Amino acid sequence: MNDTRAANSAPETLAGILLRPSADGSVVQHRGRVHLAGGRIVAIDDSDDVPDIVLLPGLVDLHIHWPQGHVRGAFSGQLLPWLRESIWPAEAAFVDADHAKHHGEAFLAQLFASGTCSALLFGPPFLDATVGLLARCPDADVLDGPALMEVNAPDDMVTPVADVLDAIDALPEALRRRVVVSPRFAPNVTANGLLRCARTARESGLFVQSHISENRDEVAWVGQLFPEARDYLDVYDRAGLLGPRTILAHGVHLTDRELARCAASGTVIAHCPSSNEALSSGRMPLERYREHGVDWVLATDVGAGPLISQLDTIRVFLAVHEAAGIGVSACEGLARASVVPGAFLASTNADLLGLGSLEVGAPAHVVAIDDAATVNAAQNSGTAEATLRALVGGPVEGLESLPAAVYRWGRRV
Ligand SMILES: [Zn+2]
Repeated sequence: MNDTRAANSAPETLAGILLRPSADGSVVQHRGRVHLAGGRIVAIDDSDDVPDIVLLPGLVDLHIHWPQGHVRGAFSGQLLPWLRESIWPAEAAFVDADHAKHHGEAFLAQLFASGTCSALLFGPPFLDATVGLLARCPDADVLDGPALMEVNAPDDMVTPVADVLDAIDALPEALRRRVVVSPRFAPNVTANGLLRCARTARESGLFVQSHISENRDEVAWVGQLFPEARDYLDVYDRAGLLGPRTILAHGVHLTDRELARCAASGTVIAHCPSSNEALSSGRMPLERYREHGVDWVLATDVGAGPLISQLDTIRVFLAVHEAAGIGVSACEGLARASVVPGAFLASTNADLLGLGSLEVGAPAHVVAIDDAATVNAAQNSGTAEATLRALVGGPVEGLESLPAAVYRWGRRV
């Protein structure tokens, strides 16, 4: 355990109606107790004599922009003008250390209070801001990368990718292993820059994150910028950036060839339905993801996503796919917003194993929900699906503050 605060946390027992998601998309509901010690879940047992409160694992968000937390949901428009006119100016201010510290601390406090205990963060294009955030939050399950931007962006945001990656390589090991190689999206990085990203990720064993096929204008632009590539995914593939430790956000407009290649390479797609709704990007074709066997997770993509709460992501996930006649369940939504794909975590440090599950050995991340409608649904129906539908079915504006208590590494936040 590299988190001494967690190792020193006192043993604690939480009791209630447990919701325990699995990687296959199912959720088991039963009454019982969860025992926490040393920052991990050390035992779970059945018991009918427990309070009427719902307990679920800490949620996990594998695609969220922390320098956009304070402007989440504030702007609208299509992707490219939204970036140029609203988001990039907001992120440019994070070159200032005090600004980055202030907003970084506020972001993490809001994130944890909303029930998200673990996150792969997308930072502003300044390595100092990422280093500051990682130093202030020294937990193994909060990772961040500066958005790499070397072309097609404002002058005050661009740095040669090789320079940033050299600086990442020079960081102390404990910090470097929590840095995510984060080319912002293909238009912001040259083909050589992408090759260098893949080399650093491979040699240092780092996660990779980027964006893909969110918007049709963006896809057309990538085609003009990289005429040698077969399609958008091929831009990353040719650089050697695909694999089970790579997360690409959106994938709304991927072709069958690209979906097959995602599946074959093990690349994980972060499905961000609330963001896609906000920027009118379209609906990610979940049914084709299922056909091809592509691994995917649910993410907020704050600040296009208007709420920091993964409960809202589950709500919108149900709404958009059900409106299109696609069968989805709230259980699947919870599983994709919590349980982290095993291949993604493989070979990373053992602290992260079991992340997002309510199982013995997992990090002691637990969210308590003391909401009358949710508890009534759990009591009356007895099914996890009904409980979860009630959980995300309350007033949207209340979802960020719905958790009554959140435990990270065994300590209440
Ligand atoms: Zn994003």
